[in-house]
Amino acid sequence: MKLPFAFIGLSLFLIVSCAPSMNPSTPMTAPQVETKLELVTRADWGWVPLTDTLPTHEIKYITIHHGGEDFPQDKDVIKYLIGLQSWSRSDKNWIDNPYHYMIDLQGKIYEARPIEYPGDTNTDYDVRGHALICVMGNYENQILSEVQFNQLALLTATLADRYGVANNLIKGHKDYTETLCPGKDLYRYLEDGSLIKRVGELRRP
Ligand SMILES: [Zn+2]
Repeated sequence: MKLPFAFIGLSLFLIVSCAPSMNPSTPMTAPQVETKLELVTRADWGWVPLTDTLPTHEIKYITIHHGGEDFPQDKDVIKYLIGLQSWSRSDKNWIDNPYHYMIDLQGKIYEARPIEYPGDTNTDYDVRGHALICVMGNYENQILSEVQFNQLALLTATLADRYGVANNLIKGHKDYTETLCPGKDLYRYLEDGSLIKRVGELRRP
């Protein structure tokens, strides 16, 4: 098939103009990613100090979860965290929020249960030794955004370096037990290796 010359010319122009501009004097570097971890601390969001503790544990695994309930854009994250902590204590009799870190729709990372204590779960795997990260929302229905993906990778890489967790011990909740968690749109990045790849780029050499 013959394409009109003008069309080919326009296509070439678009391809060239969409390509990232390269400055030949700049050496090639690793992909530009945010590498500084910023946390909303427990004190920042109104966490209520523990009244009970558990035997401490040593982190050997990093396990990724989703909140499992739809999270609308306008939902108040602080209220949600406070409510989750209070429900965990009063209804579940847990010492605290079940997860150690939580990530919201904007990719902000919140400290939750102090990581020296094992988390909690409604399922039947042994949570001792696991650092639990939860992305707020239900990724059976919701789409994980790029900023959430990047922040999840950054937090995971930071914890993996801090506790010496091997990349092959970074998994999703459903790798341990019968559950949909962390939801298909989050789990696909664990399944296809892209999350671990990004974590690897962010880890200390
Ligand atoms: Zn889970």
